[in-house]
Amino acid sequence: MWQNQGGAYANRVKNAVILRKNASLLTATTGEFMHYADYKTILSPKNGMNLYRGCTHGCIYCDSRSVCYQIKHGFEDIEVKRGADRILEAQLRARRSPCMIATGSMCDPYIPLEEELELTRRCLEVIERCGFGLSILTKSARILRDIDLLCAINERAKCVAMMTLTTFDEALCRVLEPGVSTTEERVSALIELGNAGIPTVVWISPILPFINDTQENLLGLLDRCALAGVRGIICFGFGTTMREGSREYFYAKLDEFFPGMKERYIRSFGSAYSCESPASARLTEIFRAECEKRGLEHRQTRVFDYIRAFETNWAQLTMFD
Ligand code: SF4
Repeated sequence: MWQNQGGAYANRVKNAVILRKNASLLTATTGEFMHYADYKTILSPKNGMNLYRGCTHGCIYCDSRSVCYQIKHGFEDIEVKRGADRILEAQLRARRSPCMIATGSMCDPYIPLEEELELTRRCLEVIERCGFGLSILTKSARILRDIDLLCAINERAKCVAMMTLTTFDEALCRVLEPGVSTTEERVSALIELGNAGIPTVVWISPILPFINDTQENLLGLLDRCALAGVRGIICFGFGTTMREGSREYFYAKLDEFFPGMKERYIRSFGSAYSCESPASARLTEIFRAECEKRGLEHRQTRVFDYIRAFETNWAQLTMFD
């Protein structure tokens, strides 16, 4: 039960009352702040779907914190799109033909709050019912809760499950991405998804200069991608981006965990948006050669074409085969 906010959807939250802090609620079970907001549409013009705004996963490099995205509330005070599944269903039913729906680019669909609200799950049910396809990106093994629905979507149309990986070093992973599944947990989830017949893709991003920009790390990640049998890898290069909002958070975390590193970043990149690793050219060559050695599709256009193409399950049989 919730205090009086959120209407019918508040009742979906189990075992939870809670305190109010300003206009937000604090869940008893996940300890996250949240509030509802009303939206007229759920899909972006390119069929992207973000059900939450903000994130509690705490990745130190998170770009979604950037002020350009105009999140007006605390980043950890999750905005929940009220009635998102109902609005999504109306939007999909109004479409003439099905297409791929993409989620996970701006916020993770499997933050802890999803265990309570099951908003992502209800939207997957809508996508399956309406016969649309899905590409879903997360860093959480919570995705396995919905493997039945992912299989159903894939059976009827197409589903691509995607995970981001940044480092094979579990201790470093806990520092860079404290709230998400560890790399090994994500790889296990990828294997389980693949065994269920769901095609998987890995995003290797970001590669942080002077932190995870090593050949050892890259090879460790590629070995795990090969082990998981992923369909493709997306890597935008070897570096990271930084903007107002994300930079301040990142630098504070560098001071906490990597003394002297902030000063090194400032010396190397100043206030540049693009922070390329000095090892970028070498790592790019290694990436190409080692992907090819392992039979991993790494051509960005091919992988994106695959993710975005709407196909029936029958048509999928011809892709990458
Ligand atoms: S999971 Fe994504 S949105 Fe959430 S903190 Fe990490 S990078 Fe940001």
